[in-house]
Amino acid sequence: MNLIALPAFTDNYIWMLHDGTQALVVDPGDAQPVFDALQRLALQLSAILVTHHHPDHTGGVAALRDATGAAVYGPAAERIPEPLQRLREGDGVSCLGLAFDVLDVPGHTAGHIAYYAAQVTVDGTAAPLVFCGDTLFSGGCGRLFEGTPAQMLASLDKLAALPGDTRVCCTHEYTLSNLRFARAVEPANDALASYQQACEGRRARQQPTLPSRIDTERAINPFLRSRLPAVAAAARARAGAAAPADEAGVFGLLREWKNGFQ
Ligand code: ZN
Ligand code: FE
Repeated sequence: MNLIALPAFTDNYIWMLHDGTQALVVDPGDAQPVFDALQRLALQLSAILVTHHHPDHTGGVAALRDATGAAVYGPAAERIPEPLQRLREGDGVSCLGLAFDVLDVPGHTAGHIAYYAAQVTVDGTAAPLVFCGDTLFSGGCGRLFEGTPAQMLASLDKLAALPGDTRVCCTHEYTLSNLRFARAVEPANDALASYQQACEGRRARQQPTLPSRIDTERAINPFLRSRLPAVAAAARARAGAAAPADEAGVFGLLREWKNGFQ
């Protein structure tokens, strides 16, 4: 399989998986980058996977479906233009000979889903892969537009529990700004410092920082580390004396800190 991040808008990626003949895309907010890639690589589009209803993830779905006849999959609980195969946790999608499991990961939106495949061979290496939309970013997580801190924490726990070598295909190139925040939260995290350096190098060469890996995210992403004493203490110190003590409360403080971080 070939795994390609097609840039769209200012910082979106439309992920494409293809076998040289058939392709699937994830969250095509814009149809044009997908049409261009299909033509350039002489591919047929067989499936469109949608993680949540936001326009930067769905804007190109109708044009692509109408032009190619691709099957469209999306979250059961969100308003996505029909026709659509509606999915929730426990459901599966098979395409390109791959089997994807659907995970419910609410928080960014109420019905957000992710697509996990236990084994995909890319560049000769077999590893799991997850298309996680705007739930998990490298070094960060999505904003809580329709969910609570407790829901997002549970969703991120679910993703963090995937195998360490899972390729993490997020929908935005937010890594460098996320890592600046992560350094403020955990200034003594050496793995974070060296990861930041590696990502700065990739961006300087105009390469994506993604896909990331779950084991990398466990080591550097403050939103997967909010129960660690150093991270929780930093979030509480930032918020002052009135800081809540439970896990979801600390996670919420961390998310609010990031919302105002420059
Ligand atoms: Zn979104
Ligand atoms: Fe988005």
